[in-house]
Amino acid sequence: MKTADENEGETLPIDLSFGVGSPLLPSAPRGSVAATLLQRYLPSFVIDARRALEVYSEVNRFSVQASTDSLTQLANRRMATRALGRLREGDTVIMIDLDHFKRINDNYGHVAGDETLQAFGRVLRECIRERDFVGRYGGEEFVVVLSGSKEPDAFLARLRDVWVVGRPYEISFSAGIAIATNDPSRAIIAADHALYEAKADGRDRWNWAIDDVVGEQPLTEHDEPTPQESFVAFSQIHVPAEGSQDLERAFEDRLGAVDRWPGFIKLKVWADVTDPTRFAMVSWWTSHEDFRAYMHSSDHRLSHSRIPTGDFRPHARQFRRYRIVAR
Ligand code: GH3
Ligand code: MG
Ligand code: MG
Repeated sequence: MKTADENEGETLPIDLSFGVGSPLLPSAPRGSVAATLLQRYLPSFVIDARRALEVYSEVNRFSVQASTDSLTQLANRRMATRALGRLREGDTVIMIDLDHFKRINDNYGHVAGDETLQAFGRVLRECIRERDFVGRYGGEEFVVVLSGSKEPDAFLARLRDVWVVGRPYEISFSAGIAIATNDPSRAIIAADHALYEAKADGRDRWNWAIDDVVGEQPLTEHDEPTPQESFVAFSQIHVPAEGSQDLERAFEDRLGAVDRWPGFIKLKVWADVTDPTRFAMVSWWTSHEDFRAYMHSSDHRLSHSRIPTGDFRPHARQFRRYRIVAR
């Protein structure tokens, strides 16, 4: 006959909660086989399990570290490259670069530069929807992927509004927008070109990639005519392949002398990326007379056609897959 005491459950001093919730102590009838087995094997099982959990959280920490940019806590370049690899037709890629960021470092020091990047990272996170992607692409460059063409203009306008209120230093950003086509790998290149254009057009603005100006997309603000721009010329240039390098250089030389062209406002030259013999050019002038005077004084005789002021949308169709060579 067993005594009541012998029947009593024995609680073993081994916590099985692993730190989650209140302590969990196993018990077994005193003197039972179960109690003997628990006493013998449970301590080493608990030690092994704790170690396994530590290893798991360590691995987890490493994988977060390997995918996060330590300064801004945004996804890092590796993750950005992955996100770009997963692009689907119709997704929007936005490349963003802080304007004259170097000046922050130069004028206020590197710590101020770091603070600015951190603040921009916070604002980006605040403005992005959960299913969209934002990452730090390089030093002061960021990439955003909006799934589907979800009004990147509205996103960027909001980003600018929030940034202007919260920025630690007076610094703007420029951006380039491209929609992924059936060849999504082109989108990042196109967005980068558009960003480059936005910089050249004066910064603190965003541009659509030329591919995407075609079709229904509105022209960006800088392409709207200003009262000054009363004459816009368009020309298509075919040169032998071996002469195309010279032509690029010639444009550069000419642009070095723009100050001597009365009435000249701006110029854009596109080269076909698939055919090095094809170039297209648009130039803006204050008047037709100024343009003609320039044509007479210059040694080149290209055939130009006039385009309705500021509206080169129909001509832009010919600019598909072109890259900017001069402006
Ligand atoms: P732009 O408007 O043409 O983009 O001019 P910018 O000055 O922004 O561009 P530039 O490429 O000349 O300079 C970028 C600077 O960003 C240079 C580099 O020292 C700085 N930078 C890159 N990464 C970091 C960083 O993590 N922290 C700090 N403080 N500076 C950084
Ligand atoms: Mg910059
Ligand atoms: Mg940069």
